[in-house]
Amino acid sequence: MIYLSAPHLTGEEQPYLQQVFESNWITSAGHCIDLLEQRFQEKLSVPYAVALNSGTSAIHLGLKGLGIGAGDTVISPTFTFVASANPIVYQQATPIFVDSEPLTWNLDPVYLEEAIKTSIKKGKKPKAIVVVYLYGQPAQMERIQAIAEHYDIPILEDAAEALGSSWQQQKLGGLGDVGVISLNGNKIITASGGGILLTKEEAIAQKVKFWATQAREPVPYYQHTTIGYNYSMSNVLAAIACGQMEVLEDRVTKRRSIFQYYQKHLKEIAGIHFWEEPTGYFSNRWLSCILLSKDIKCKPEQLIQSLWEAGIEARRLWKPMHLQPLYNAYPYFGEQVAEDLFERGLCLPSSSSLTEAQLDYIIEQIRTNIKK
Ligand SMILES: *Cc1c(COP(=O)(O)O)cnc(C)c1O
Repeated sequence: MIYLSAPHLTGEEQPYLQQVFESNWITSAGHCIDLLEQRFQEKLSVPYAVALNSGTSAIHLGLKGLGIGAGDTVISPTFTFVASANPIVYQQATPIFVDSEPLTWNLDPVYLEEAIKTSIKKGKKPKAIVVVYLYGQPAQMERIQAIAEHYDIPILEDAAEALGSSWQQQKLGGLGDVGVISLNGNKIITASGGGILLTKEEAIAQKVKFWATQAREPVPYYQHTTIGYNYSMSNVLAAIACGQMEVLEDRVTKRRSIFQYYQKHLKEIAGIHFWEEPTGYFSNRWLSCILLSKDIKCKPEQLIQSLWEAGIEARRLWKPMHLQPLYNAYPYFGEQVAEDLFERGLCLPSSSSLTEAQLDYIIEQIRTNIKK
């Protein structure tokens, strides 16, 4: 089976793991956690990084760090994975969903502003804007940042899929008030599971560390004055991530070359569309995605099924949140851009471990099945 996005070990993990086992620091503190946080601070040029047990935990504590609580509203793109919206509800706040724009597939600045204005008219300004960089593609940050500044609303970047991507030479994950990276097994590099929270504010970093370790007060006995979580990263997993960080650039280069290979060999087929990278936008091409024209007979679901039968895993794009039974009663600002992407799009196998022979096989299978 050729998978969509498989973990890709390098061998660089082993020396770090060896050190961790020899030191016996195999739980929630240790050298590799410190090292990993330091590497992220350097790589993304952000003063503070906190290693946590998942990207989802990082979004949760990031929102909490921005002061989101019961009764607040938070803007989220509708076109995303559910893990960017759920933490809003963990904090007993209400998500307001906003459509994508067709250039980047990410948050539409026009509907973002409309959502903010409407909320203000109703007497409640949104407390945060969650910006997601789907499949590694930067959002229209110039316009989004201008809106966030104008209305004085903080930005939480869900850069879970976008480690190694940049916008106007600035690394994604380091642009917002809080940034989040996921190190889950399917992402561009992995800790096997984990997340990194990035922030310019020392106070947020300190609070996040405190909440992530059961909010235990710094006294000689177990003293608690506020609710906490068990969200910290294990030193064993941090060791894996330290090894993976050494090959991040290679992984980005490889994923980008996979996208180019698909584009080169499939772009002349009528009905298949590729997603361009605007000038100044640099995507890690975490997943290579295509859109099928409405006027061809083959639908994404059929193509996915035929590929599956040929031993190839492909998937639909994210199903918009405002179409989910979980979230369809929440406010939504937009048209059908995200819905159209969901109807027409699919993600192709994009693992950095793919060989050229495997890519040729996938391309041949797409050519054959699209004509059926
Ligand atoms: C993977 C992902 C997350 C969640 O990260 P985990 O580490 O799996 O918890 C959040 N948002 C998006 C957009 C993701 O793709």
